[in-house]
Amino acid sequence: MSASLFIDGVWTEGSGKRRGKILNPATGQQTGEVPFVEEADLDRALAAAQKGFLVWKAMSPVERSKIMRKAAGHMRERHEAMARAITAEQGKPIAEARIEAALAPEHTEWNAEEGRRAYGRLIPARASDVTQISLREPIGPVAAFSPWNFPVNQVVRKIVSALAAGCSIIVKAPEETPSCAVELVKCFEEAGVPEGVVNLVFGVPAEISEKLIASPIIQKVSFTGSVPVGRHLGALAAQHLKPTTLELGGHAPFIVTEDVDPEAVAGAAAASKFRNAGQVCISPTRFLVHDKVFDRFVDAFTEKAEAIKVGDGMEDGVKMGPLAQARRVEGVDALIQDAAANGAEIRTGGRRIGNQGFFYAPTILANVPLSARIMNEEPFGPVAIVNRVSSLDEALDEARRLPFALASYAFTNSLNAADRIADEMEAGMVTINHFGLGVPETPFGGFKDSGHGSEGGTEGLEAYLRTKFVTRRR
Ligand code: NAD
Repeated sequence: MSASLFIDGVWTEGSGKRRGKILNPATGQQTGEVPFVEEADLDRALAAAQKGFLVWKAMSPVERSKIMRKAAGHMRERHEAMARAITAEQGKPIAEARIEAALAPEHTEWNAEEGRRAYGRLIPARASDVTQISLREPIGPVAAFSPWNFPVNQVVRKIVSALAAGCSIIVKAPEETPSCAVELVKCFEEAGVPEGVVNLVFGVPAEISEKLIASPIIQKVSFTGSVPVGRHLGALAAQHLKPTTLELGGHAPFIVTEDVDPEAVAGAAAASKFRNAGQVCISPTRFLVHDKVFDRFVDAFTEKAEAIKVGDGMEDGVKMGPLAQARRVEGVDALIQDAAANGAEIRTGGRRIGNQGFFYAPTILANVPLSARIMNEEPFGPVAIVNRVSSLDEALDEARRLPFALASYAFTNSLNAADRIADEMEAGMVTINHFGLGVPETPFGGFKDSGHGSEGGTEGLEAYLRTKFVTRRR
């Protein structure tokens, strides 16, 4: 497989010679390469985004919506190709990749419709011959940076929010997983999105972000990734007075109260925890389980984790693939060994699997002390921490202890507990008694170190609009 850049409506290898390697995480072997942009290519992309913006902005929302819906149709045609590219380069099981690819047209269609509803308002004036209008208009060309863990989903969300608002976009998609982003962008091209409106680049991330964020053409920055990089890009954007949407890391608490069926909750928790090998910003990581159901919960959770078939995501029956890169295996293993050294019990896992590819066993740690790094750093891998709590107050205190505040979960049969959790949790998202996050119509985002702004929902679209006030006397 090999990927290309898409600049000003043209697929190109770029003007330089630098290339990145594409690896299959299930084997660790190189399967292709990706061209890296040079500064001259970025200059062309910026000029294209400026030109494309003026064309796209001038089209009516209905026309834009029709083109976006057509792109969604092409995504359904390319569904299997996108899914296979995800698994081949990112590693997740093909069934999960198919779900991710199937969501792309859903995000596109929802935004295509919502973009038609970017209403302004008429504000009653103080004089009868004055009209006051608050208009919502597209903010301008956008620079977006998306990560490798959901290599279609994270790219499509940024593109369709921008397009729905009437903006053009330059996306730096992940170098590790470029092929599915290429498939996705082809859908916009085939649907007739005008030249320069969607541009796709790969390269050295820091070079690209510094160049794009500083450019006077770019009016908005959107980033999904780690807290340190988010902090850095946020500072760069602030320096150039560009608004940001930052969707950063998480360390999600998962409260289990004393009145639930612990085996049933453990079954649901295992499916959620080990999805995408835990490389999910909203992955539940700190299970805070009431003392009365703790032992049964840990036993059932361990049994479920041990039953997960780990292997090449292309193989039938595989429920968890490899981690996406060798550096993730090293990072996760270091956190787990540190926890064990600090006194945590490794109930299952805690080791690599096989001698090729980036496989790691689903891991459950119990009774992990706060001194362990994993209690404070985002694990971003197939590891769950299960700790005992004796009250809801104690669970909430631990849930709110960290500066991360993205997703949070709770399973309870108490209405009072559910209300308190919804009210007192410090997190951008609270999901109770199910796993209901990430659909196109709902906001997705965090507080504090987990970033700011929302992707998805009407809030996601808002982030790509600006307000213009017009007042006129007859
Ligand atoms: P990383 O911090 O090196 O990179 C994260 C992402 O940011 C990558 O896609 C990378 O290409 C991009 N990036 C890095 N430096 C950049 C720069 N200067 N300008 C623009 N983009 C830049 O981490 P990693 O090893 O790739 O991933 C592991 C960590 O990333 C995890 O611990 C997790 O916190 C975070 N992460 C979060 C999400 C999320 O959905 N919020 C997704 C993927 C990774």
